[in-house]
Amino acid sequence: MKRVSPKSKPLLALLAISLWITPVWSQRSETVIANSLPALGDGSDITLSAERQLGDRIVRELYRDPDYLEDPILDEYLQSIWQPLVKGAQARGEMTPELLERFAWKIFIGRDRSINAFALPGGYLGVHLGLISVVNTQDELASVMAHELSHVTQRHIARSIGDQARMSPLLIGAMILGMLAASKSTQGAQAVIVGGQAMAAQSQLNFSRDMEREADRIGYGVMSEAGFDTQGFVTMFGKLQQAAGLNDRGSFPYLRSHPLSSERIADMQARQQLQTPRPANEAKDIVQAIMSARARVLAQPGVGALRAWANEATDTNMETQALNKRIGILYGAALSLMQLRDFSAARALLPRLRLALGGHAEALRIVQLLEMEMSFKENDMRGALRALSSTTQLPSSQWQRPELIFVAQASARLQTASPSIETSQLLAKSVSALQAWVLQSPQDAQAWQILASALAAQGRNLASLRAEGEAQLARMDFGAAVDRFKAAQDASRKNPPQMGDHIEAAIVDSRLRFAHGILREQLLERQVR
Ligand SMILES: [Zn+2]
Repeated sequence: MKRVSPKSKPLLALLAISLWITPVWSQRSETVIANSLPALGDGSDITLSAERQLGDRIVRELYRDPDYLEDPILDEYLQSIWQPLVKGAQARGEMTPELLERFAWKIFIGRDRSINAFALPGGYLGVHLGLISVVNTQDELASVMAHELSHVTQRHIARSIGDQARMSPLLIGAMILGMLAASKSTQGAQAVIVGGQAMAAQSQLNFSRDMEREADRIGYGVMSEAGFDTQGFVTMFGKLQQAAGLNDRGSFPYLRSHPLSSERIADMQARQQLQTPRPANEAKDIVQAIMSARARVLAQPGVGALRAWANEATDTNMETQALNKRIGILYGAALSLMQLRDFSAARALLPRLRLALGGHAEALRIVQLLEMEMSFKENDMRGALRALSSTTQLPSSQWQRPELIFVAQASARLQTASPSIETSQLLAKSVSALQAWVLQSPQDAQAWQILASALAAQGRNLASLRAEGEAQLARMDFGAAVDRFKAAQDASRKNPPQMGDHIEAAIVDSRLRFAHGILREQLLERQVR
């Protein structure tokens, strides 16, 4: 039986979660069960921990996908929508405390221009840059995320997997990864081999219609509870409907996995008619316009597209556009020019952006971060830190995550290149802020990774190696984690101990045992298979 090689294709892709249950698999599940692991369930819902394990197994591969994107600014933005939705689901009793604790509730960004979002087992949510770039309001984005969240809280995934109960989790994981890879390329779908059978990505089998309607209904309630304008659900449907009419399904894979029936649209319109219309929220719409532009540019559209967006800022008709549109154009142009490394033209747009923004504080902060990014990309770390001077003067407990990440990176690089007392103080401040951060969010692999470089810049080798190990653990790459923790043990044996090293060395020993244990389990699992 051929296996899908996770490395052969970028995987973070257009998953329709429910592509899983195809006739191919139903037939084959009879033959593949021999010698497989204990089944996930007996035809009923799989347990929370089995579903979480399955999700972990899938995202472990996604972390290695070249299209997996860590962008502190977009990450923070999606969190600002996701966290209220998770709280809203709790408040409405859709999410039990057990579900909240056992599942990951984590978002992945895929560097993909197609319009898609998907839920994975165990409370993971994937969002494509294409989706962020195409929505006009935060509420539209919230409607898609609330719908996907509801597939998870309603255990639609568990129910679907329950039907595959006799398959081993490893096989189901491989199958989902195969689906991800298959749906990634537009034509390559047929070429992907899963379980010895060619599988069409264009599956007819999705979540059932009832599940779709339930996810709409619950998602609508959750979104409203979280304070979003439910009109976003209706306008998002409008967008999808228009795309369906245009037969533009190629760039709207979301439509394949969530077919838009007239029933669903009618349901939603009926619900919305009972609501009093809300006024537009200019500040929120401006931030969304900026994030849409950012998503477009980060999707690596090619030099031609970047040039075209850069030119949009010179269009004289621009001034007739609505404010949020103008801001989106200016931000997109500045970011495009930065990517094209035309830094002086990029910087020249900043005063125009700030002028247009007036007193919109939240958007001004993102422009300040953009100014920092420009210096960073020019390898001018002093300039990057200067751009964030209003932040670095604050106590580090008040830094937000993007600032924390960037200040730590810039001060670490500057300290390595040309050390000074001032930089070393800022670096120390960053390190303690990051240490406090990872204590709260131990699954934040990027924060661990940056902490590792910051500690290395301080000359704290042992602590740095341990942080690298923790980053690998957070990405669930247990082999790499073992490797880093072993390197840390070696370092502590060879070098004279520094302050705090005794504690650090003890932690390293226990983390190494932990990572070893999981690695052994994984190897056993493969042998059984
Ligand atoms: Zn759905």
